[in-house]
Amino acid sequence: MDKIIIAIDGFSSTGKSTVAKQLAKHLGYVYVDTGAMYRSVTLYALEKGLISNDDFNREALIYQLPSINIHFKFNEILGFAEVYLNDVNVEKDIRTLKVSSFVSKVSAVSEVRQKLVEQQQKMGEQKGLVMDGRDIGTVVFPNAELKLFMKASAQTRAERRYKELIERGDDVSYEAVLKNVEERDYLDTHRRDSPLVKADDAIEIDNSYLSLEEQFNKVLKLARMAIEDCE
Ligand code: C5P
Repeated sequence: MDKIIIAIDGFSSTGKSTVAKQLAKHLGYVYVDTGAMYRSVTLYALEKGLISNDDFNREALIYQLPSINIHFKFNEILGFAEVYLNDVNVEKDIRTLKVSSFVSKVSAVSEVRQKLVEQQQKMGEQKGLVMDGRDIGTVVFPNAELKLFMKASAQTRAERRYKELIERGDDVSYEAVLKNVEERDYLDTHRRDSPLVKADDAIEIDNSYLSLEEQFNKVLKLARMAIEDCE
Protein backbone atom coordinates (compact mmCIF):
# COMPACT_ATOMS: atom_id res chain seq x y z
CA MET A 1 0.00 0.00 0.00
CA ASP A 2 1.37 3.42 -0.94
CA LYS A 3 2.34 5.69 1.92
CA ILE A 4 1.37 9.34 1.99
CA ILE A 5 2.19 12.53 3.87
CA ILE A 6 -0.51 13.92 6.12
CA ALA A 7 -0.06 17.59 7.02
CA ILE A 8 -2.05 18.88 10.00
CA ASP A 9 -2.00 22.62 10.62
CA GLY A 10 -4.01 24.88 12.84
CA PHE A 11 -4.15 27.19 15.82
CA SER A 12 -2.55 26.29 19.15
CA SER A 13 -4.30 23.72 21.33
CA THR A 14 -6.73 22.61 18.65
CA GLY A 15 -5.88 18.99 19.43
CA LYS A 16 -3.65 18.61 16.37
CA SER A 17 -1.13 16.44 18.17
CA THR A 18 -3.79 14.19 19.72
CA VAL A 19 -5.36 13.34 16.37
CA ALA A 20 -1.96 13.18 14.63
CA LYS A 21 -0.68 10.65 17.19
CA GLN A 22 -3.83 8.53 16.89
CA LEU A 23 -3.63 8.57 13.12
CA ALA A 24 0.08 7.72 12.98
CA LYS A 25 -0.41 4.82 15.39
CA HIS A 26 -3.37 3.47 13.43
CA LEU A 27 -1.63 3.71 10.04
CA GLY A 28 1.83 2.65 11.28
CA TYR A 29 3.21 6.05 10.25
CA VAL A 30 5.82 8.27 11.90
CA TYR A 31 4.44 11.24 13.84
CA VAL A 32 6.39 14.50 14.05
CA ASP A 33 5.36 17.38 16.32
CA THR A 34 7.05 20.42 14.74
CA GLY A 35 5.83 22.69 17.55
CA ALA A 36 8.14 20.68 19.82
CA MET A 37 11.07 21.69 17.59
CA TYR A 38 10.27 25.43 17.81
CA ARG A 39 9.68 25.02 21.55
CA SER A 40 13.10 23.33 21.94
CA VAL A 41 14.89 26.23 20.21
CA THR A 42 12.97 28.58 22.53
CA LEU A 43 14.04 26.58 25.59
CA TYR A 44 17.64 26.83 24.39
CA ALA A 45 17.29 30.64 23.97
CA LEU A 46 15.81 30.93 27.48
CA GLU A 47 18.50 28.74 29.06
CA LYS A 48 21.27 30.75 27.38
CA GLY A 49 19.67 34.07 28.42
CA LEU A 50 19.14 35.12 24.79
CA ILE A 51 15.48 36.04 25.31
CA SER A 52 13.59 37.68 28.17
CA ASN A 53 10.57 39.91 28.64
CA ASP A 54 12.45 43.00 27.52
CA ASP A 55 15.16 41.69 25.23
CA PHE A 56 15.73 39.23 22.38
CA ASN A 57 19.25 38.77 21.05
CA ARG A 58 18.28 37.37 17.62
CA GLU A 59 21.82 37.67 16.21
CA ALA A 60 23.29 35.52 19.00
CA LEU A 61 20.57 32.90 18.51
CA ILE A 62 21.17 32.82 14.75
CA TYR A 63 24.93 32.52 15.36
CA GLN A 64 24.40 29.62 17.75
CA LEU A 65 21.92 27.73 15.54
CA PRO A 66 24.52 25.22 14.27
CA SER A 67 25.09 24.07 17.87
CA ILE A 68 21.39 23.41 18.47
CA ASN A 69 20.65 19.78 17.77
CA ILE A 70 17.07 18.57 17.92
CA HIS A 71 16.03 15.00 17.40
CA PHE A 72 13.19 12.64 18.26
CA LYS A 73 13.44 9.24 19.92
CA PHE A 74 10.52 6.82 20.04
CA ASN A 75 9.41 5.98 23.58
CA GLU A 76 7.96 2.45 23.55
CA ILE A 77 6.06 2.98 26.79
CA LEU A 78 4.42 6.24 25.81
CA GLY A 79 3.94 5.13 22.20
CA PHE A 80 5.26 8.32 20.62
CA ALA A 81 8.58 10.02 19.90
CA GLU A 82 9.96 12.40 22.52
CA VAL A 83 12.02 15.43 21.66
CA TYR A 84 15.69 15.83 22.63
CA LEU A 85 17.63 19.10 22.71
CA ASN A 86 21.38 18.45 22.46
CA ASP A 87 20.82 14.88 23.72
CA VAL A 88 18.68 15.90 26.71
CA ASN A 89 15.03 14.80 26.83
CA VAL A 90 13.10 18.09 27.02
CA GLU A 91 9.62 16.73 26.33
CA LYS A 92 8.31 18.08 29.65
CA ASP A 93 10.39 21.28 29.89
CA ILE A 94 9.16 22.64 26.54
CA ARG A 95 5.48 22.48 27.52
CA THR A 96 5.53 25.19 30.21
CA LEU A 97 3.60 28.47 29.91
CA LYS A 98 6.97 30.25 30.00
CA VAL A 99 8.17 28.53 26.83
CA SER A 100 4.71 29.08 25.27
CA SER A 101 4.96 32.79 25.95
CA PHE A 102 8.25 33.19 24.03
CA VAL A 103 7.92 30.58 21.28
CA SER A 104 6.08 32.76 18.76
CA LYS A 105 8.89 35.34 18.85
CA VAL A 106 11.53 32.68 18.27
CA SER A 107 9.51 30.96 15.54
CA ALA A 108 9.22 34.26 13.62
CA VAL A 109 13.00 34.27 13.00
CA SER A 110 13.55 33.18 9.38
CA GLU A 111 16.90 31.48 10.06
CA VAL A 112 15.28 29.33 12.76
CA ARG A 113 12.49 28.35 10.37
CA GLN A 114 14.94 27.56 7.58
CA LYS A 115 16.91 25.16 9.77
CA LEU A 116 13.85 23.37 11.12
CA VAL A 117 11.96 23.20 7.81
CA GLU A 118 15.00 21.57 6.18
CA GLN A 119 15.11 18.94 8.92
CA GLN A 120 11.33 18.38 8.65
CA GLN A 121 11.49 17.89 4.88
CA LYS A 122 14.19 15.23 5.33
CA MET A 123 11.89 13.36 7.72
CA GLY A 124 9.30 13.11 4.94
CA GLU A 125 11.55 11.63 2.27
CA GLN A 126 10.21 8.12 2.87
CA LYS A 127 6.59 9.33 3.26
CA GLY A 128 4.45 7.45 5.81
CA LEU A 129 4.42 10.61 7.91
CA VAL A 130 1.90 12.58 9.95
CA MET A 131 3.30 16.01 10.76
CA ASP A 132 1.58 18.78 12.68
CA GLY A 133 2.38 22.49 12.93
CA ARG A 134 1.51 25.83 11.38
CA ASP A 135 3.10 25.73 7.92
CA ILE A 136 3.21 22.04 7.06
CA GLY A 137 0.66 22.13 4.23
CA THR A 138 1.81 25.52 2.94
CA VAL A 139 5.62 25.48 3.23
CA VAL A 140 7.08 22.18 4.46
CA PHE A 141 5.02 19.81 2.31
CA PRO A 142 2.96 21.86 -0.17
CA ASN A 143 2.36 18.61 -2.11
CA ALA A 144 1.17 16.57 0.88
CA GLU A 145 -1.51 14.10 -0.22
CA LEU A 146 -3.80 15.09 2.69
CA LYS A 147 -3.94 18.47 4.41
CA LEU A 148 -6.08 19.18 7.43
CA PHE A 149 -6.64 22.52 9.10
CA MET A 150 -7.89 22.36 12.69
CA LYS A 151 -9.94 25.06 14.37
CA ALA A 152 -11.76 25.62 17.66
CA SER A 153 -12.77 28.71 19.60
CA ALA A 154 -10.05 30.40 21.69
CA GLN A 155 -12.06 29.67 24.88
CA THR A 156 -12.38 25.96 24.09
CA ARG A 157 -8.65 25.74 23.34
CA ALA A 158 -7.64 27.66 26.46
CA GLU A 159 -9.84 25.38 28.61
CA ARG A 160 -8.14 22.28 27.15
CA ARG A 161 -4.66 23.72 27.63
CA TYR A 162 -5.44 24.94 31.16
CA LYS A 163 -6.64 21.46 32.12
CA GLU A 164 -3.48 19.87 30.70
CA LEU A 165 -1.19 22.27 32.60
CA ILE A 166 -3.08 21.84 35.89
CA GLU A 167 -3.03 18.05 35.50
CA ARG A 168 0.75 18.07 35.18
CA GLY A 169 1.02 20.22 38.32
CA ASP A 170 1.79 23.66 36.84
CA ASP A 171 0.59 26.70 38.78
CA VAL A 172 -1.27 28.73 36.12
CA SER A 173 -4.52 30.65 35.84
CA TYR A 174 -7.12 30.15 33.11
CA GLU A 175 -6.88 33.87 32.24
CA ALA A 176 -3.11 33.62 31.65
CA VAL A 177 -3.57 30.57 29.41
CA LEU A 178 -6.34 32.29 27.39
CA LYS A 179 -4.16 35.37 26.99
CA ASN A 180 -1.28 33.23 25.74
CA VAL A 181 -3.51 31.37 23.27
CA GLU A 182 -4.83 34.67 21.86
CA GLU A 183 -1.37 36.26 21.69
CA ARG A 184 0.09 33.26 19.87
CA ASP A 185 -2.86 33.22 17.42
CA TYR A 186 -2.10 36.85 16.61
CA LEU A 187 1.69 36.48 16.29
CA ASP A 188 1.50 33.20 14.34
CA THR A 189 -0.98 34.60 11.80
CA HIS A 190 0.73 37.98 11.41
CA ARG A 191 4.44 37.08 11.10
CA ARG A 192 6.13 37.81 7.78
CA ASP A 193 7.75 34.40 7.25
CA SER A 194 5.34 31.45 6.86
CA PRO A 195 2.33 32.87 8.71
CA LEU A 196 -0.33 30.44 9.83
CA VAL A 197 -2.87 30.25 6.99
CA LYS A 198 -5.07 27.49 5.73
CA ALA A 199 -3.69 26.01 2.51
CA ASP A 200 -6.24 26.35 -0.32
CA ASP A 201 -6.54 22.58 -0.60
CA ALA A 202 -6.70 21.86 3.16
CA ILE A 203 -9.84 20.38 4.69
CA GLU A 204 -11.06 22.45 7.62
CA ILE A 205 -12.11 20.69 10.81
CA ASP A 206 -13.73 22.69 13.61
CA ASN A 207 -13.57 20.39 16.61
CA SER A 208 -15.17 22.72 19.19
CA TYR A 209 -18.10 20.30 19.49
CA LEU A 210 -16.57 17.02 18.35
CA SER A 211 -15.65 14.24 20.75
CA LEU A 212 -12.18 12.72 20.32
CA GLU A 213 -13.77 9.60 18.84
CA GLU A 214 -15.89 11.56 16.35
CA GLN A 215 -12.89 13.60 15.32
CA PHE A 216 -10.69 10.53 14.88
CA ASN A 217 -13.29 8.69 12.78
CA LYS A 218 -13.71 11.69 10.55
CA VAL A 219 -9.98 12.13 10.03
CA LEU A 220 -9.32 8.42 9.53
CA LYS A 221 -11.96 8.32 6.79
CA LEU A 222 -10.23 11.22 5.03
CA ALA A 223 -6.84 9.53 5.38
CA ARG A 224 -8.16 6.25 3.92
CA MET A 225 -9.65 8.13 0.98
CA ALA A 226 -6.38 9.97 0.35
CA ILE A 227 -4.39 6.69 0.51
CA GLU A 228 -6.83 5.01 -1.94
CA ASP A 229 -6.53 7.97 -4.31
CA CYS A 230 -2.78 7.37 -4.50
CA GLU A 231 -3.10 3.75 -5.55
O1 C5P B 1 2.08 23.33 18.20
P1 C5P B 1 2.58 24.14 19.38
O2 C5P B 1 1.51 24.94 20.04
O3 C5P B 1 3.38 23.35 20.34
O4 C5P B 1 3.59 25.19 18.70
C1 C5P B 1 4.26 26.15 19.47
C2 C5P B 1 4.60 27.35 18.62
O5 C5P B 1 5.61 27.00 17.66
C3 C5P B 1 3.47 27.96 17.80
O6 C5P B 1 2.69 28.88 18.55
C4 C5P B 1 4.24 28.65 16.67
O7 C5P B 1 4.72 29.91 17.07
C5 C5P B 1 5.45 27.74 16.46
N1 C5P B 1 5.31 26.83 15.33
C6 C5P B 1 5.58 27.31 14.08
N2 C5P B 1 5.57 26.47 13.01
C7 C5P B 1 5.27 25.17 13.17
C8 C5P B 1 4.97 24.65 14.44
C9 C5P B 1 4.97 25.52 15.52
O8 C5P B 1 5.84 28.50 13.91
N3 C5P B 1 5.31 24.36 12.11
